[in-house]
This record gives sequence, C-alpha cells and structure tokens, in this order.
Amino acid sequence: MRREDVRNIAIIAHVDHGKTTLVDELLKQSGVFRANQEVAERVMDSNDLERERGITILSKNTAVFYKDTKINIIDTPGHADFGGEVERVLKMVNGVILLVDAFEGAMPQTKFVLRKALELSLPVVVCVNKIDRPEARPDEVVDEVLELLMDLDASDAQLDCPFLYASAKAGYAVKDLSDEPKDMTPLFETILDYIPAPEGDETAGTQVLISTIDYNEYVGRIGVGKVDNGTIKVNQECIMVNHHNPDTQQKVKISKLYEFDGLNKVDVQEATVGSIVAISGIADLHIGDTLCSPDHVEAIPFQKISEPTIAMHFIVNDSPLAGQEGKYVTSRHLRDRLFRELNTDVSLRVEETDATEAFKVSGRGELHLSVLIENMRREGYEFAVSKAEVLYHTDERGRKLEPIELAYVDVPEEFAGTVIQKLSLRKGELQGMSLASGGYTRLEFSIPSRGLIGYRGEFLTDTKGNGILNTIFDGYAPYKGDIQYRKQGSLIAFEAGESVTYGLFSAQERGTLFIGPGEKVYSGMIIGQSAKPEDIELNVCKTKHLTNTRSSSADEALKLTPPKVLSLEQALEFIDTDELLEVTPESLRIRKKILD
Ligand code: GDP
Repeated sequence: MRREDVRNIAIIAHVDHGKTTLVDELLKQSGVFRANQEVAERVMDSNDLERERGITILSKNTAVFYKDTKINIIDTPGHADFGGEVERVLKMVNGVILLVDAFEGAMPQTKFVLRKALELSLPVVVCVNKIDRPEARPDEVVDEVLELLMDLDASDAQLDCPFLYASAKAGYAVKDLSDEPKDMTPLFETILDYIPAPEGDETAGTQVLISTIDYNEYVGRIGVGKVDNGTIKVNQECIMVNHHNPDTQQKVKISKLYEFDGLNKVDVQEATVGSIVAISGIADLHIGDTLCSPDHVEAIPFQKISEPTIAMHFIVNDSPLAGQEGKYVTSRHLRDRLFRELNTDVSLRVEETDATEAFKVSGRGELHLSVLIENMRREGYEFAVSKAEVLYHTDERGRKLEPIELAYVDVPEEFAGTVIQKLSLRKGELQGMSLASGGYTRLEFSIPSRGLIGYRGEFLTDTKGNGILNTIFDGYAPYKGDIQYRKQGSLIAFEAGESVTYGLFSAQERGTLFIGPGEKVYSGMIIGQSAKPEDIELNVCKTKHLTNTRSSSADEALKLTPPKVLSLEQALEFIDTDELLEVTPESLRIRKKILD
C-alpha cells in the first residue's frame, strides 16, 4: 500500500539558513490549505490538555497539511553524528529538502547529513533560501550545490533534482527566479510531486522501528518511529524485539499512541503504514527496538549504535565557594541529571566511580561531551571536568586501536597553513583541500580523536575566531604512534580587562597550562566556541583533582579558589610528566621577558 495522503521528509540545513522560519511558514500556510477541519479542533484540545498538565513536548518533529496530504517533517540533528543518529532519523523519511542560504551557499557542516541521505538513495529537493537578501547570489549557489552533490557521489536521479528559490521570511517559494512571488505553493507541490509516498504492507504483521526517544517528566519515555508494516492500535499487545539482541523479547501493551499535528502530538487510536507515531507508557522502550505483532516477530535492522570513544570525569565542586555559579552543585544533582540524559542519548555512558563525587561520562568525541557540559552549565549545574581521555580498543591480533575522526575545516585562506601545520603535528592527515567562496579554504583531515582533544581553543585562537571546525567519527584504526610534543610551548596571552594571563600551550591532550603571576601553576582549558577571555575555563590545581572556577583572569581565579602553590616540579608531578615536555626553563624565561 502506498500512503498517498502522507509524505515523510527531513530538512537538511546549516544553522541560520532558515529552517525554523521555513517550517513556521509552512505551518502557517498549511492552515489555509488544511482540508480536514476536525483535526484543527483536536489540535486545540490537545494543546489545552498539555497546558493543564504542564507537559512539554520535546520533539521538534512537525506535521503540516497541504490539501489532503500530511507532510511529516522529521527533526534532523544539526551536523554532528553522535552514534548513528542521522541514519536512524533519515530512515523514517522518503526524501529531504536541502535548504541553503542564497548568499552563504552550502556549508561543509551539512555534508555529513547530506552524504547519509544520498547513501540511503533519498531524493533531494534543493531550496535556495533568503533570495530577498540584497547580496544573494542564487545562480552561483545552485552551481555550488550541484558540485557538492557530485562530490558526494549523488546518483543521476539525485543530481536531476528540482531547485526552488525561496524567501522563508517573506513566505514564498518560486520555481524560477522570474516567477511572481506568491506563497509556499510551489514548495508544497514539489514535495508532493517529487518525494515518494511511504509504502508498506498494511495487511502484514505490525512493525514499528523506534528511531528516537523523547523524555518527559510526566509520561516518561516516548518512542518515535515509523509504521513500516501493518497497523498499530491502542490496547494492542506487541512483542518488543531488537535486531542486535534478538533473544531479549518482551511482551508489551500499547497504552498511548500519538501522531504529530502541527507542533503537537495528538492522541490517536490507531495508525498504519507510513505514519510517524509516538508511543508512551513503555518504560523499557529503547532506540532500535521494533514493536511487532506476536504472530510475526521480526526486528527491523538498523545500524548498530556506536560505542563511545572518549571519556571525562564530571566532578562535584567541593570548594567552599560552591554554589556561587550555579543552583545545582551536589553529587545527587549531578548524578540525577547525568542519568536523566541517558533517557534520550543512546551514545552516552555514565558510570559511578569509586569517589562518590565523580562520575565517568563517555561519549562520541570531545564535541559530544562539550555540548552536554555547556547545556548543563546553562541549566545551572556547577561542576568540574577532567581532561578528556580516549577509549582504546584492541583487535583480535592484539593491536591497539584508536578512534579516528574526519575533521572538516573552513578557514580564511591566510590561516590554512597554520591549521595544516598544527593538525599534522597532531597526527592529522590532509585528505583534501579546496577553495570555497569568500576567500575561504576547505580542508579535510583524517585524525586520531586524541589529536583533537583541546584543539578547538587553539583553532579559534589561530584563526582569530573565523574558522569553522567540524568532526565526525570515522572508525577505529591501529594506533598511529605517539604525538611528538613540541620541545617548547608557544606563549600565548589572553587579555582580560587590566590583567593579562600568559599561558603556555601545552601538550595536545592537556589543553593549556597557564603560568600566572607569582609562578603559580594551574591548568586550564577552553570549552565552547569562543576564545573570549571570559569563556576561558580555569581549572585550578588543587591537590588531587581539579576545581572548576569560571573567571576572567588569573588573579581572580586565584582569589576565588586559592590553589596549592606548586613549584614547576610539583606541577609536573601532578600532571603526567611526559605530556608537559614543553614547559622548559627556556619557555619560562620567555614568559619572564614578556612580563618584564
Ligand atoms: P535556522 O537556524 O536554520 O532555524 O534559522 P532561522 O529560521 O532561525 O533563521 C535564521 C535567521 O535568518 C533569522 O534571523 C531569520 O529571520 C533569517 N531568515 C530566515 N529566512 C530568511 C529569508 O528568507 N530571508 C531573509 N532575509 N532572512 C531570513
């Protein structure tokens, strides 16, 4: 059966290229086209209900209606793939819209998701957005997109894709730049014409693969997936089975079933082939589980969720000043928050450690953990983190294997040399280099994960904040040999108001070692995307572990958390000695000279 009344799509777009604006506009205009008024009333009911119970719906999936067709727009993760997430999400759709800014053009970050979509043979609709911008260069952007598609080995059918031009902001799309702008009709029509309706066997046994998990305090875990075959009904008994653990089957009853409508989930009694559904009330539901009818138990295959590659310790802030920076400081707070994260993030691991005040958190690369750290800090959690450590494997032959990432770099041309030099030192292999628009150079590297640890801050300094760095896990490979540390650290200075903090760029795996006034030694690292002084995280050395202090200058950090004053020798003992080779008397002399 082909569900002609349904289309399942995903929008691939770089941040700021207008995805939210476009979806809002489609929603707004879909009201005009909505054929089924009854549904509109139901939306309002469900809204009220949610307001009453204070339920917030996490998933950003949306459904819009055009004429008699429901278009499910599945939320795609930004640009980083934390454990096969992109593939699972794209498996729910039959086509994608590639939304590209008419001035900026296609950005390399969208490549990962686009490549996956092409590999899954999904048709692409290209939508060049923001054509109202005075500096828009839609024709060039179209050529760039075609080039990108060819680079990524798009099939002939995929290369023959429709191009549309839009101003999401002004609420219109056109097929040709000379067309009279009206509304989103051309985009709606293209989706209906070009993106195939979902297909399946509605008479077969039920099969629903859970692709993402939402979590909500009131209803618990909510699984989202597509009905591949059969129908699913409220009160139906299902067998839950997982492709990668076929022996662990569990009998469950469907108590709550929803479909998406606008930005909401609405209760439904049953859903059939092609529908995107949400299911709550099953405590044990996990990503990758298939819900099947008892008489036809067959798990749908999916890419195995990949293992973490990097670990960090999250440590309770035990300084007397704990609580100044955030609301949540206790071990209990930290524990609850970290374990809650596991509800929705399958590629994360959290382990208790021997110390009650520290948790080992493992994820897919440094960026994955940085995102979590930033989110938690924004929510008011205060804690310290240890440096990231790489999780090694061994193969059957006993060789040590290490995680490798692909790094995509976009930098103004003048910085390309420095970046190539730095990443080569960190065992990066340059795989491709091309000119991008606006005087930018695009570089592609294959690099061990450990080579990237602590690099982001350095990268931002080196590119004066103008570079873009994206990484994606590529697999495990034999250990590439030790990184040769520079004999001498490069001296860098961060100005913060009146005072200047001097830092020595230390070994790759240790971030920056700052030498502050009075020969006090403490380590620091830069978290996040900005190298502004106030974003520099100073981890003051304090006996056994690091205490977190967010402050803008060395003096302030020392005031807030008086560190044990360490001699250079003591500092070397505290931090793995072999990684601090560059703190030489010579480099200290250089520092002295600058201070003088
Ligand atoms: P997202 O990050 O992809 O979701 O992007 P948003 O939808 O939030 O848009 C980013 C910015 O671009 C906002 O300031 C929008 O107002 C603006 N924007 C979106 N679409 C257009 C457009 O068609 N024309 C212009 N000029 N600006 C747009």
